[in-house]
Amino acid sequence: VIVGEAKKKTKAEIGPEGVVARIVTAANEAVSAAGLRLKNVTAVGIGAPSPASPETGIVFNAPNMAGWIDVPLGEMLGQKLALPVVVDNDVNLGTLGEFVLGAGKGCSNMVGVFVGTGVGGGLILDGQLVRGARYAAGEVGHTVIVPDGPLCGCGKRGCVEAFASRTAIEREVRAALAEGRPSVLADLMRDDNDRLTSGTIKQALDQNDALMTEVMAQVQYYLGLLAGNLVNIIDPEMIVFGGGVIEALGDGFLEPIRAIARPCFLSQRDVDRIRIVPATLGDHAVVLGAAVLARTQG
Ligand SMILES: [Zn+2]
Repeated sequence: VIVGEAKKKTKAEIGPEGVVARIVTAANEAVSAAGLRLKNVTAVGIGAPSPASPETGIVFNAPNMAGWIDVPLGEMLGQKLALPVVVDNDVNLGTLGEFVLGAGKGCSNMVGVFVGTGVGGGLILDGQLVRGARYAAGEVGHTVIVPDGPLCGCGKRGCVEAFASRTAIEREVRAALAEGRPSVLADLMRDDNDRLTSGTIKQALDQNDALMTEVMAQVQYYLGLLAGNLVNIIDPEMIVFGGGVIEALGDGFLEPIRAIARPCFLSQRDVDRIRIVPATLGDHAVVLGAAVLARTQG
């Protein structure tokens, strides 16, 4: 249960000390919003956009945090808050949140795939989050699906993320518009400060825009192949799709993904036991996963 909430921009450019100070302020605000004090809190969980160690609290490498390398976030925050702090990768925590409290409740084996600016992922095997030998497991978005395909945010080419992220969708849309392709997207994006948000994608699809439908069919195709590959590797009971794009488009968007994934399953036995479903916790998946981790390990 979420009893209090506070949100702040990260402002990674001010450096780790500054960011930790902002987290402390936000933590105090959230605790006040709940009508509590920090001394009522038992433990703190926090997600970082980086491989991170829950054992040491170190954030290894966060390009989206102005290039943090080996930042001892757990220790820094723990000292300021005088509380135990557990750190993990944000998408791992989103997956854990959905597994314990969301769509994956009752499963033992689950994969989380989060489609937003990038494509993130997390793995649950036998009821446990899988972190890997270097805390780098679950990066399903960087499965190379087309060698020498489009450039990915990671610097390689042809990753799933380079086809299915909101960034990739925007790249395809802008290229088509630049070629003079007619589409309601030209107006919709202009009205939204020249951005392509998940909401705009939904609006264009709702208006049966041919360009948007075509671009999203490609996204569904690659996410379907990814889901098929994941099933062959892990044989999970459930693949949970979350993130801004999926949230905006809902369950209907997953149907073609299911249809593309199923024929890829090597084992065609009991295919209905593998469910491909939307996430249910929305924006709260990561914080709820962080709370679950803090409760079990903090
Ligand atoms: Zn990549």
